[in-house]
Amino acid sequence: MLAGKELMALEAAGMRTPADLLEHLPRRHEDRRRFDAFPNQPTAVAVCLRGTVIDAGPKGFGGRRFTEAVVMDGSGGVFGSGKVTLRWFNMPFIHKVVAAGQEIIVYGKVKLSTGRLVIDHPEFEVLREDDPGESIHVERVVPIYRNLSGLSQRRLRELMHLCLVRCEPEGFERPPDLGDGMSRHQALWAAHFPESVEAGVAARRRFALEEFFALQLNVVWKRSRYHDRQGRELGWKTTSLKRFYESLPFDLTGAQKRSIKEILADMRSRRPMNRLLQGDVGAGKTFVAMAAMLLAIDSGCQAALMAPTQILAEQHFLTFERWLEPLGIRLALRTGSRDETSHLEIEGRPQILIGTHALLYDKVAFEDLGLVVIDEQHKFGVAQRAALIRQGVMPDVLVMTATPIPRTLTMTIYGDLDVSLLDEKPPGRAKIVTAVRVSPKQTDVTKFVKEQLGQGRQAYLVYPLVEESGTLKAESATEAFEKWRKRLGGYEVGLIHGKLKPEEKEEVMRRFREGEIAALVATTVIEVGVDVPNASVMLLHHAERFGLAQIHQLRGRIGRGGHKGYCILLTDGKSPEALEKLRVLEQSGDGFEIAEADLRLRGPGDVLGTAQSGLSDLKFADFLTDTALLREARALADRVISEDPMLDGCHAGLRGLIDDERAEGEAGTTA
Ligand code: ADP
Ligand code: MG
Repeated sequence: MLAGKELMALEAAGMRTPADLLEHLPRRHEDRRRFDAFPNQPTAVAVCLRGTVIDAGPKGFGGRRFTEAVVMDGSGGVFGSGKVTLRWFNMPFIHKVVAAGQEIIVYGKVKLSTGRLVIDHPEFEVLREDDPGESIHVERVVPIYRNLSGLSQRRLRELMHLCLVRCEPEGFERPPDLGDGMSRHQALWAAHFPESVEAGVAARRRFALEEFFALQLNVVWKRSRYHDRQGRELGWKTTSLKRFYESLPFDLTGAQKRSIKEILADMRSRRPMNRLLQGDVGAGKTFVAMAAMLLAIDSGCQAALMAPTQILAEQHFLTFERWLEPLGIRLALRTGSRDETSHLEIEGRPQILIGTHALLYDKVAFEDLGLVVIDEQHKFGVAQRAALIRQGVMPDVLVMTATPIPRTLTMTIYGDLDVSLLDEKPPGRAKIVTAVRVSPKQTDVTKFVKEQLGQGRQAYLVYPLVEESGTLKAESATEAFEKWRKRLGGYEVGLIHGKLKPEEKEEVMRRFREGEIAALVATTVIEVGVDVPNASVMLLHHAERFGLAQIHQLRGRIGRGGHKGYCILLTDGKSPEALEKLRVLEQSGDGFEIAEADLRLRGPGDVLGTAQSGLSDLKFADFLTDTALLREARALADRVISEDPMLDGCHAGLRGLIDDERAEGEAGTTA
């Protein structure tokens, strides 16, 4: 039934079993019982026409050769023009497939070109003489698949049909709660060879819903397991929090206040808090975390904040020192390289501990950890988060992220967490101008940087690599450092990258923060959280090598001190796609919008890291377009779990959807 070449084509597409094949659902369906009339003007949408090829062959000359075929309406052109021309450029093999006399079905948008109605690069299928009758290819609704290299539409359709007739592939049977009364096999029939185009759409939705439902059932289940636990009731005393508020020279934003309220309610409740604080860079997450931590220590316990890098931990420590030491709160810093304790600690155990993962190995400092805050949580593994949480007994947990992602993704990745959204930025933030520059003259670039430094500002000069690499042709930070020193003679230039020793990094950051260094040549070590208000310029070299969301994070480092910020994206302009991508940043300063564009361009697996999500395995559903469906799946999962929290009374297929092992390992932690 299958030729060796076809088997190889299927293998190459990762299809080894009939089930694999059948899960390759059609991209769309074509109702070949009735076709569109041949149009007499261009069309805004694709049309599906059936006709006879009356002329076909290579056309054009010189560099502009193409294949052309004229198709005539089979019904004699009573309505409309009766004729459409098809064109294929740079596809010389087409004229071996299409010939005069053939009956053909074409699909595409019709436009006007040199006075004729044409479809360029149409989807098409040549019919065979024996097709009418029992054929699966015409006179019915037929599936159109995403192309698999090495297999024609026609052949793929035949194979699908054969599989459906011959096998009943294994797969989990659909839980009846979700059911449309169809078995999986029936549902597959409906998805491939439906009675109507609408029925085909409905069948695909069903599979997508099933897929989302499995994801949602997992997170909702984890969430409910977590909420069943006995936590402690904190936050009833608010003495330090009140004093903290009084000491602030500005008002908190509405979003900050709302988030603190939500956190307060969680902490006071008996069940342990498991909350995500999500906000774009600069939204002011630190103060929200600080407020939560004050609530914990007012109740007599300790609070810990874990940050992914030493630079960040130190910076948090400085911020906390600045705001909380005047209130007499005992702070300690724990990073790999050094332990610093604010002088107040001498009089007692630290109340607030800030650090990197070094916190996990601290056997002494923790006495009664009531609140754990994890900054930039996606930079940590599940095990690390769990380890910190184990330093306490059922502590409240707040995780923070500045990676804005669409709401639907949040529901999935962080679906077991409650979410507080900082969707408002503190006032008085200066505008950041972002501009893409394709290979500008170096003297112009240098002049611009010098002008800014001359006005007392500071600059980040960012590079994708630390050192020269054999394979990647990009200037590295170390190379660039020497050049910038010469270019910016008279100004102090610093260098920071991931390969420096922690003490060295810390020293460079200190000098930059204190203004001794005017321009800092850096890699992405400065990506998260670094806060130097006087820095207002960022030059991003080889910008095409960075992800959109990453650049957005990076530019969040500038324009923090009320000075207008300039983020210049330098690129060679060789790749049009890369340019288009960078333009998104010129136009939008909204982290969520950018994340969505990033997602569209790269897909969830790349954006979020596959380990994070397992999202790249989605077969049927699409996070960007099936948002309503995801909400439906969430509602279904909520209902199922609330009616039967342990799923005891449920169909085995439904219980099978819960990934027990993973859920066990993570219960008591976070997503
Ligand atoms: P995030 O961690 O969300 O990126 P930060 O907590 O570092 O943001 O805050 C960014 C900057 O905004 C900091 O310099 C901080 O002092 C300032 N800030 C935060 N909240 C406010 C506010 N309500 N009013 C004025 N400035 C604020
Ligand atoms: Mg932060």
